[in-house]
Order: sequence, then structure tokens, then C-alpha cells
Amino acid sequence: MFRAAVRSESELGAKVKEYLDGGELVPDEVTIAVVGERLNHPDTRSRGFILDGFPRSVQQADLLAKVLDPVQLDMVVDLHIPTEEALTRLAGRRVCSTCAAIYHVSKPPKYDWNCDNCGGEVVQRDDDTEEAIRRRLELYEAQTAPLIDYYFERGMLVTVDGLGPTDEVADRLTEAIDRQRENRGTQS
Ligand code: ZN
Repeated sequence: MFRAAVRSESELGAKVKEYLDGGELVPDEVTIAVVGERLNHPDTRSRGFILDGFPRSVQQADLLAKVLDPVQLDMVVDLHIPTEEALTRLAGRRVCSTCAAIYHVSKPPKYDWNCDNCGGEVVQRDDDTEEAIRRRLELYEAQTAPLIDYYFERGMLVTVDGLGPTDEVADRLTEAIDRQRENRGTQS
């Protein structure tokens, strides 16, 4: 979304570019303006949308609610895995340096760390080191984990077990979404 905003050469895009070029974190007010602008496009208005990994703090969640008002999110999914598992997944993650396809040390590409899709070199990202991962998890506990209570109190939270093969987790997600839609259907 940040890249698209910069490409659009809007006033907002210029602001985003300043932060990105300076290697700085884009502040919440600017981030939410970018998200709000995107959610106003005809496709998101007619078909709906999924936000992945956003909001990441209570402050962002408050800003998001204001931008969406009077519309509300239908549901918030907490894809839950134990911290141990998060560490194993992140520390073992490897990424294609050409096409960004994601692998894991337990499931490498077929030939000698060359990408199955494009033949590019599959490497460990700089921010997937143990030190960086520990910092990210601390940040998650401090800033993002409080969102679980935040959305629970608002009756929007659905927790889905994120352990196991991806197709099983995907099935659980679909079921959770269907259940939530049925509940909403019987309410109205
Ligand atoms: Zn690749």
C-alpha cells in the first residue's frame, strides 16, 4: 500500500516517500490515511477487504475505527500459535532473493537452495536473525498482543488454532468465517 501511494504521486504519497527514503517508520497518522484512502476505492467498498497484519497497536485500531465509521469490521481473527512455534517458523524461514517466494529449512526448494519458481537464490532475510526475531516478538507482546483483549471486549474476536498443515489451518479459518456470518445472519 505504501508503494502504491508513492507511485500515485499524490500529496500523501509524497509524505510516505519522505519517511521511506529516510529509512524511518511511517507514523500512524500517515499510515491510517493511506489505509483509509485505499478502503475508499470502489472494489473494497463493494466486495469488502481483508487487512493482514494491521492494525498492530491499540492506537492504530482506534484510528482505524474512526476511518471506517459508521462501518465496522465484521470480525477479527487471532491466528494463534505458541511463542516457541513462532520462533521456529521465523528462524527457519528462507526467502527467494528474486521473486520473494517463502521456504523453510524443514521444506527447502528441490535443488540446492535455488528457488523452485524462478531459480533465484534462496536466502535468510536480514530481519529473520535470532536477535531481530526476539526484538519483533517483544514488540508484538508490548504493542500488538493488547489487541486481543481490545477486540474481545468489542465482541469481534475469533481465535483460530494456527498449528498444523496450511490446508488444515485454511479450513479452520473458512469454518470460523462461515460461523461468524451465520451468527450475524440470525442476529439481523
Ligand atoms: Zn524465486
